[in-house]
Amino acid sequence: MESPEQNQQNFDKLKQLCDKAGIKLTHQRLEIFKELLVARDHPSAELIHIRLQERMPTISIDTVYRTLATFDELGIVKKLHVANERTLFDSNMDVHHHFICSRCKKVADLYWPDFDKSTLPGNISKLGEVNSRHLELHGVCTECLGLK
Ligand SMILES: [Zn+2]
Ligand SMILES: [Zn+2]
Repeated sequence: MESPEQNQQNFDKLKQLCDKAGIKLTHQRLEIFKELLVARDHPSAELIHIRLQERMPTISIDTVYRTLATFDELGIVKKLHVANERTLFDSNMDVHHHFICSRCKKVADLYWPDFDKSTLPGNISKLGEVNSRHLELHGVCTECLGLK
């Protein structure tokens, strides 16, 4: 869980980015951002919408889609295309990778600094210039394995 100070920093950052982009930080945008900050489970837009409806019954799915697209452009959230089947949203902007459970479909963050720093194979330059790297590991999580 994030500390209140970290959350405050995140809100300040959101405010700054919105100001810079010339968009208003509306109540709805703020609530969508808050929802993403507390969610560490990489929710889909549909899931975010369902969760928000509990306290904002009138919020539309279109608003959620549009706001998430704006946040993505501003670099506030990351869009994940997990296994090309779902578009999920991630508010963790630190460099990290994902472990995806093939049974419960849970997406967990994982950190691998050695991989991030490793030298790329030379033949990659034939394909183009690499700007970022993201690993998707697939398997069965400890809960599904009954280890937890
Ligand atoms: Zn699982
Ligand atoms: Zn993540």
